[in-house]
Parts: sequence; structure tokens; C-alpha cells
Amino acid sequence: MYDALTTSYTFACPVHGETRVHLSRFRRLQQLPGAEHPAVYRVEFACGCGAEHPGLVTHGDLDLAPLGLQAETTFLNLMTSRIEPLAGELGNLAATRIGAGEWPWTFFCWPEDRPRPVFPSAFTLLAPAERGDRVGVAVRCPVCGKVSVNLVSRAHVDVPFANDDEVGVVEHVFVDDAAAAIDEFRAELHSAAFDARRLALE
Ligand SMILES: [Zn+2]
Ligand SMILES: [Zn+2]
Repeated sequence: MYDALTTSYTFACPVHGETRVHLSRFRRLQQLPGAEHPAVYRVEFACGCGAEHPGLVTHGDLDLAPLGLQAETTFLNLMTSRIEPLAGELGNLAATRIGAGEWPWTFFCWPEDRPRPVFPSAFTLLAPAERGDRVGVAVRCPVCGKVSVNLVSRAHVDVPFANDDEVGVVEHVFVDDAAAAIDEFRAELHSAAFDARRLALE
């Protein structure tokens, strides 16, 4: 499903049969109601064939596989930054970096006016920016629950620990309603009203 060497996910495509996409090609993520162990996310991704297709991703594939960790054998605690038990060299490397204060994914929470560590399962909407090779991402803050929109590099999304020093932030608190949020998200992405914020975690 997730391939750590190419940092890509494998999905079915009606044209190509199978396709690989990076996380930054995801467009929408939504946790399916009911499925808890493991939690399953319905995603829509922008395929190389030009269309958007639906796919399913488990919580482990989304948040832990990019770190070389298996959902079944690990427990990752956001508050203590501890992973246990650990599996594999990649997992050990990730644990070392997390222990040293680095976080694989971060974003800037606009309502709280501070950077926050996050996992990809907190991403709700993604879209390519009009200019440059950047991607807009709507993130639901795991601490305050509010949605912020950041403008980041593709690597910031696709590669764990490849955090941008600075990200663009929309100065706007987004509504909770999913359908309305998509319209708002698109409007803000095109307005180019982004403010730069530093992402360094304390
Ligand atoms: Zn396709
Ligand atoms: Zn927050």
C-alpha cells in the first residue's frame, strides 16, 4: 500500500489499473464512520490519468507507514513523543529524531497562532497552488480542533521530517461544515492572501 522508498501510495485506477501517488496528490481525506480498529480513511486523489479517484487508506498507512512503523506493533504518543515498541531501522531512525525534538509533520495553527506537530490523518483537503510547486493543505488541529490552511512545499507533505522553515498561512478560521469548507478552501487558495509563519517547534 505505502512504499517508503518512493514515499508513495498504490491505488486502483480505471485507466492504468494501478497507480502510485504521493500524499500531496491526495485531495480529500475523510475518516469513515464505524471503522475504528483500525480507523479507515476514504481519500480522493489526483491520478496521473487526469481524473480523481476514490481510495481507502488505513490509519496506519497514513500516519505510521511513512515512518517505517507498523500500526499493529507500535504506539505513538503525541504528548510524550514516544514510540513503543519499535520496528525496523526506519522506525528507529524516526524515533531518534522525534526524541530529539523533530516532528515528521508540522503545520501552523492560525487560531492558536503557533506551530503544532501533526499526522497526515489531520489533513482534510489538499490542492495545488496557482503559482509555484506548492500545495495548499487544510489541517484540523489535534489540540484545538480548528481547521487552518497552510501553503507548503510538496516535500513538506510527502517526506517525513522534511519540514519547511516557513509556510504560508491563511488568516482565517475555517467553518466545520465539510462541503462549505471545500468552497472556502478553494476561494482562499486563489485569493493568495497568505502570511508567512515560521514553523520551528519549541
Ligand atoms: Zn487514473
Ligand atoms: Zn490549534
